[in-house]
Amino acid sequence: MSVTTRLTLTDNLPLTCSRSGACCHGNMVRLNPWDLACLAEAKGLTPRVFRDRYCDFGGIHLRFDGAPGWKKKPACSQYVTDLGCSVYLGRPLVCRLYPLGRQSQGKELYYMYQGVDFPCMKECPEVLDLPRLSVADYIEEQATKRFEVARDEYLELMQNLADSAFALLFDSGLAESGDRQTLRLWREMGKEEPEQLAERIGSEWIDLLMIPEIIDSLNDPKAFSRQHYDLLISKAQESFGILDNVTDYCEASGLMMGLALHLGRGLGANPAELAEHWIKTAKEHGALD
Ligand code: SF4
Ligand code: SF4
Repeated sequence: MSVTTRLTLTDNLPLTCSRSGACCHGNMVRLNPWDLACLAEAKGLTPRVFRDRYCDFGGIHLRFDGAPGWKKKPACSQYVTDLGCSVYLGRPLVCRLYPLGRQSQGKELYYMYQGVDFPCMKECPEVLDLPRLSVADYIEEQATKRFEVARDEYLELMQNLADSAFALLFDSGLAESGDRQTLRLWREMGKEEPEQLAERIGSEWIDLLMIPEIIDSLNDPKAFSRQHYDLLISKAQESFGILDNVTDYCEASGLMMGLALHLGRGLGANPAELAEHWIKTAKEHGALD
């Protein structure tokens, strides 16, 4: 398990960025659907065009295919040499928070950084000569609030998708029938590479998961994610209305779980661990593995 340093809002740290561009090279930025919509708006593109030009795996990763820069590492697709981030106003939560991270444990929420040493010290030791900031002031300056709300909303949406997979397993009589295929399918999907899982889910569902057609709620992540959930559930009801045998229910449960796992990866979770967590819960309720 990786070590993290837990912070309080009054901790004073060298949080003024030296703007060397170190973090915008050779990194990985994962996205949720709202992050993606904000990036697209900042770039003046539709989410679909932004996703197709600049993201991988249906939209859960921002591509890092720019010209090699910092230590010859490839730049983020949004990085412009000598200028910096081209989508600064719509940059995702992970970019706003770095070098900090955010963790929730039950109802408790806190900021932290990875490791024991302050992360910027490795690439940018010059930060020690710049003004220090409290964690609270840094968070305020980075305008993270809406992005944090969006992340929490999408964590809930992910759980709701997984709950739909559970409902298709238990309420249909599938689990009771002695089925073992469904949990195996969940496990298999958890271990798949992101491109494999995206391919298995299929482009129609991936598009609905990552680039939903919601146009007027970008300032309100709660309204955005709730409209998004309604769209997903109404497509599921349309698609699953005519299921009548165990294979159909197994596939439908697999699809909802696949969506939850793919979204989970975009939220920074490990899909294999998520799948095992949900398999354990299903087994506790009587499903067979
Ligand atoms: S490592 Fe720290 S100081 Fe360097 S570019 Fe990233 S945030 Fe800024
Ligand atoms: S989105 Fe902007 S801040 Fe984030 S890695 Fe890319 S260039 Fe850097």
